[in-house]
Amino acid sequence: MLFPMKPPPERFVLCYHCKAEIAVPAAARTASCPACYKGIVLDDLAVREGAGMAGRLSTCGKVKVHKKARAVTRQVEAGAGVEVDGVLEARISSGGTLVVGSKGRLKGDCTAPSLVVEEGGIIEGGFFRIGHSPPPPSPAP
Ligand SMILES: [Zn+2]
Repeated sequence: MLFPMKPPPERFVLCYHCKAEIAVPAAARTASCPACYKGIVLDDLAVREGAGMAGRLSTCGKVKVHKKARAVTRQVEAGAGVEVDGVLEARISSGGTLVVGSKGRLKGDCTAPSLVVEEGGIIEGGFFRIGHSPPPPSPAP
């Protein structure tokens, strides 16, 4: 169905490069940030069974590590949250709730507004900064 009188729906996301809040078309899967001109991923990223190393997982959506999947990566940046049902080893910067499921295992430094660990979930260690405090300065590349 078309609604010609309405502007296309938009949503607001946080650019993970420059932290600017930007409007993007609701249906878009990627965009380029009008503030820093870098390309950004808007889709949720899923790490499925068998997936291994990744350099960096960055999205304005969610990052989900599925059961039996193992993601060992330098950095995870997720604008909308992180869900760990498998194994995740990374430095995590999340704009949404970080959820460690009952089969989840997490290792690494984490910054997130809130943290949920389901019964059975494992956190092996790391420096945690949970809550709405000012974000730490970005690490040098
Ligand atoms: Zn930007």
